[in-house]
Amino acid sequence: MKTVSSFNFNQKRALIRVDFNVPLDAEKQITDTSRIEAAKPTIMHILEQGGSVVLMSHLGRPGGKPSNDFSLSHIVDRVSEIIGVSVQFSEATIGHEAEKAASALAPGKVLLLENLRFFNEETDGDESFAEALSKLGDIYVNDAFGTAHRAHASTAIIAKYFGENKCFGLLMEKEIRAIEQVLKTGEKPITAIMGGSKVSSKITIIENVLPAIDHLIVGGGMTYTFVKALGGSVGDSICEDDKLDLALSILEKAKEHNVTVHIPVDVIAADDFSENANTKIVDSNAIEAGWQGLDAGPKTLEQFEKVILASKTLLWNGPVGVFEMNAFAGGTKAIGRFVQAATENGAFSLVGGGDSVSAVKQFGFSDKVSYVSTGGGAMLESLEGRTLPGVAAILE
Ligand code: AMP
Repeated sequence: MKTVSSFNFNQKRALIRVDFNVPLDAEKQITDTSRIEAAKPTIMHILEQGGSVVLMSHLGRPGGKPSNDFSLSHIVDRVSEIIGVSVQFSEATIGHEAEKAASALAPGKVLLLENLRFFNEETDGDESFAEALSKLGDIYVNDAFGTAHRAHASTAIIAKYFGENKCFGLLMEKEIRAIEQVLKTGEKPITAIMGGSKVSSKITIIENVLPAIDHLIVGGGMTYTFVKALGGSVGDSICEDDKLDLALSILEKAKEHNVTVHIPVDVIAADDFSENANTKIVDSNAIEAGWQGLDAGPKTLEQFEKVILASKTLLWNGPVGVFEMNAFAGGTKAIGRFVQAATENGAFSLVGGGDSVSAVKQFGFSDKVSYVSTGGGAMLESLEGRTLPGVAAILE
């Protein structure tokens, strides 16, 4: 795997695709800088070796035309502050002006290009646009894991114009290795904790991870499709009636792969989908009409705890309850504590894909697990077993 360690960047200009698609408030202030912080190690690595850096990113969805609302000029000062180097800005993304600014960069200097998505050619994966971008650096570094599942000009197409001079940035490397550490080289027992609302949105991941894992913990809204498929009564709980056969086929496949499936035995049921609903603890297969399961119950959590604490490798995707409401966040918080405890005992834990990432951040577990993925869609597609175009382009 070609990484930044494969090159000496001294006197070289690195063209880095970063993901600076940060949230801005009405005053164009960044409300969450984590994506910039995540790209910092790669930038610093190259600068410290005596290289210079050209940064390219998208911001929002400007729809292929310039727009002040989506200008990356708004973030230049914050980027400078975070990396501790004064960043220059190029209003031109490609062309003569951009090339002039890039070639004038002295070692240790950083240039940020204007929003790639001011051009439809970016999302279209246009070859001439990719080639024009490629003129801005000697070595192409892809560190934008969040967009690695897109075959865009700057994330994939561009790589071929650099021959051997292309590599993954440190963030991309970490993401790729974290997935490998779960699905390829993980120490057993390996447990996948799958939550979220629907089986249908997680089915491809479950099918892809089954051959690699020993235990599958099912939680969240998905629970009720499994419980009903097994003959239980789920009351008004979220349930995909057209996916009952699918749930049974997952259980069949799990058996073929010797995977033990753990489905909640009890749940916290509510008489309304609301924070102030009346609640009671009931068996997951005996929920009355008018009631819906919104979180894992205490017996369930006790069982999940044992499985998680005995695991050496953990993948956690999706909350086990409606964690956005305090009344139903307890299960997801408990899973966070169990994953933390397993990690403290030496397990490798990866939290990835969507809502589980928001949950670990919200409940303060981010630095208590081994790795929290920064790429929602890209992580989900990797877990589904798909090769990401941005990854393939570097490996080719
Ligand atoms: P996903 O995007 O598929 O990972 O689903 C995450 C969403 O699932 C969160 O917004 C949770 O509130 C929701 N969720 C988790 N458990 C339940 C449940 N028992 N009933 C309804 N929604 C749930």
